[in-house]
Amino acid sequence: MTAVRNIQLKLAVDEEDHDLLDETFEQFRFAAQYVADVGWDDDPIGIVTNQGDLNAATYHEVRDQTDLTANHVQSARSLASDALSNCKERIFDGRRASKPEFRGTAVVYGARTVTYNDDYCTLSTVDGRVKTEYVLPADPAGTVFEDYWFDDDWEPREATLHKRDGDYFLHVAVQKDIDVDASTIKNGAVLGVDCNVDGSLAVTSTGMFLGNADYLNHRRDEFERRRGKLQQTGTRSAHLTIQSIGNRFSRWSEDYLHRVSKEVVREAREHDCSAIAFEKLEGIRERISNGSKFQQWAFRELRRHVEYKAEAYGITVTAVNPAYTSQRCSHGECGFTHRTNRNGDEFVCQKCGRELHADYNAARNVAWRLVQNWLKSGSGRANCQVALKSGTVNASGDFTPASDGQSGSSPTSPRL
Ligand SMILES: [Zn+2]
Repeated sequence: MTAVRNIQLKLAVDEEDHDLLDETFEQFRFAAQYVADVGWDDDPIGIVTNQGDLNAATYHEVRDQTDLTANHVQSARSLASDALSNCKERIFDGRRASKPEFRGTAVVYGARTVTYNDDYCTLSTVDGRVKTEYVLPADPAGTVFEDYWFDDDWEPREATLHKRDGDYFLHVAVQKDIDVDASTIKNGAVLGVDCNVDGSLAVTSTGMFLGNADYLNHRRDEFERRRGKLQQTGTRSAHLTIQSIGNRFSRWSEDYLHRVSKEVVREAREHDCSAIAFEKLEGIRERISNGSKFQQWAFRELRRHVEYKAEAYGITVTAVNPAYTSQRCSHGECGFTHRTNRNGDEFVCQKCGRELHADYNAARNVAWRLVQNWLKSGSGRANCQVALKSGTVNASGDFTPASDGQSGSSPTSPRL
């Protein structure tokens, strides 16, 4: 698997190159905004996020109106496409989002537009390349530069150029390939995921509430109502309309589940998890009172998307027996299990008195169940633990708080 860290490099840009870089900021901003304007729709279903579609609709126009390289045009499009996806996701989550507005303070650099050397890098601009030296600490010992810049295991990849108070900074993602060997797995944390038919679609043991099951069901009901009406008319054109809105709904719901799954995997990576635990579907089915096939399908698809994405990071996905995950107190040293602990969204342990959101409590128990399974099977994962919001807890209930990342580095991929 691959680990990514972000470091901030100050650049000593020659005075005479400032105008060129500043013009590149402006044209890159123009390009990203152009794509965002084309992709945007006030109806969230109409928001275009597909790279290929956005490319077809904007590439030539942006090339004609700027001096950006083809690679920068592509980077600007990705930036806009990510921003559009985020907006769409927010709206589908029932939150507000307006059309992305780019302010011109960032240019994204990739393999084709930045070259890293020992003391300097070269950056593509609207007119050739500029060469600029790094401003590095005289003594890098104990800094992020020692860990990630001078260590050859970490390879600099994509970067974002920023300008702040007249100075230029390059935010570089450095990455390192990590073997998923036995020791990683042995010490790996488990992210528990609780899936729900109402409220948040998925809740993690780290306290993330993802997706909106009510909204998903609402959209499904709307689709069923329209289909019902059309079926009554029974004409050939009504039949074709049913097919088309059916296709559109299934694309939309796949897209929605894809987004939620992305967040689940991102959460697992941010907490250095080596495994993600879901509940077995059979158990969830018992909880679904009306036995909706759609909800079962949604859970299955969510897990399929998570499995697919997690695999790329060496993270395994396992389903555990869901018995009592909603009734057990997830506080490590307690574990008191009783029906009366749970009341709707609230979980109040009748023994130790601790309170937390019922779905969050269940998610922690799902992770705990997998840890227990590992211990029982004697698979040698001596230090396996449950990933929590504030740290990890091992099988004996010992809690380890999350360590703060070093300043200047963050364990996430760059978010623009
Ligand atoms: Zn308790």
